[in-house]
Amino acid sequence: MTFPPSPLPPELVIRGGTVVLPTGQRPADIAVTNGTISAIGSEVRDGAATLDAKGLVILPGVVDAHVHFNEPGRADWEGWEAGTRGAAAGGVTTVLEMPLNAHPPTTTPEAFDAKLAVASRKSLVDFGLWGGLVPENLQQLEHLNQRGVVGFKAFMSHSGIDDFARVPDGILAIGLKTTARLNAIVGVHAESQELLDRLNAERSPEPLSWCRARPPAVEVEAIRRLLVAMRGAGTAARAHVVHVSTAAGLREVNEARRRGVSITAETCPHYLAFTEEDFARIGPPLKCAPPIRDAETREALWEEVLAGRVDLIASDHSPCPAADKHKGEHDIWQAWGGVAGIQATLPVLLSDGLHARGLSLERIAHLTATAPAQLFGLYPRKGAITIGADADFAIVDPQQRWTFGSKDLQTRSGVSPYLDRQFTGKVVRTMVRGVTVFGDGEVRGEPGGGQFVKPNHAN
Ligand SMILES: [Zn+2]
Repeated sequence: MTFPPSPLPPELVIRGGTVVLPTGQRPADIAVTNGTISAIGSEVRDGAATLDAKGLVILPGVVDAHVHFNEPGRADWEGWEAGTRGAAAGGVTTVLEMPLNAHPPTTTPEAFDAKLAVASRKSLVDFGLWGGLVPENLQQLEHLNQRGVVGFKAFMSHSGIDDFARVPDGILAIGLKTTARLNAIVGVHAESQELLDRLNAERSPEPLSWCRARPPAVEVEAIRRLLVAMRGAGTAARAHVVHVSTAAGLREVNEARRRGVSITAETCPHYLAFTEEDFARIGPPLKCAPPIRDAETREALWEEVLAGRVDLIASDHSPCPAADKHKGEHDIWQAWGGVAGIQATLPVLLSDGLHARGLSLERIAHLTATAPAQLFGLYPRKGAITIGADADFAIVDPQQRWTFGSKDLQTRSGVSPYLDRQFTGKVVRTMVRGVTVFGDGEVRGEPGGGQFVKPNHAN
């Protein structure tokens, strides 16, 4: 079955792979014409080029809804080129990049324009941009929305960087009201600063001291406070809780959703891959906020993923200069927090999900591509293998065993908690609009090859 017949011969036909379609996985060929998917089926006619995908699985390219590339202003922390080289190597074909820790942060239209300019020159993959919601920029939200941001990021706790202030509950409520009028979504870092201050935990240099100071209750309380702020903002308010680290946090989200609140949640590969024991061993490369949890909490999080109670999975890729990690070798509090994980999403979900826990390929496609594309208004151009969509693919060998070595790691600092981790399931090729940006172990994309994508409501 081939439909609809395209007048042009395809530029590329991918033959013999198992394709993960919205309707389920099946063997199929895919034709690509002008960078979009022009046919899917068993009778796809030959094109100018053919790619043999026998034994491989073709997933929709990952839409990573949460990355920090820190450029302009802090390009030495990562930058668009290094960051999107990692994206390409990880099967990520679209990134949604956060307003911090660039400088200036993306909280004004001018800062948005500066970031769009550098990203357009340097990105290897397609990209969307988050705006920021901070106490002093409520007047700017409408202008940022007109520029085409995918949403507004807000911190309930201190962000750790002095040019991006947290929003107290009252400002968050006003921000939610404003964004509701714009039909825009607010991405919330949900850790309660009030509870962190009250706990005022004793600091010792060991990694686990960082975990003890930010217990699960800090996340749960923040989500409850967010829900109160949303109630005041009316039924049109929309929030997305970024990097939820506990099942208890997800329960708050899901109970609110049952009451009709427009709230969604993501988790990240590092909360699914690692436990506190790993953090005690690995130290600074795995420092993040919320922190890595104990084994029981991780398993409960996996239960939520398997039960379909997590909306999407995003990397929260957030590198820093190696020196800012090394500072924490003898005192975890001195290390910058953030995990370089853009390459790990699919390997973790294939190894720890598909193979270890029976997470289906269809669910992996949904969590990493379809759901984020839908939530942030990029669907159906992005997020699914369907006729008319961009030809964005993560082609994986689900059975290949490999060890993540420093030669595989693209991040500028060379620091990642995934180094030396063994995986079953490897990204072997990544294509953006029909162009290979990663293949045969090499990044092949060109800076400037990526295109800016706007949510549908902004077009
Ligand atoms: Zn983040």
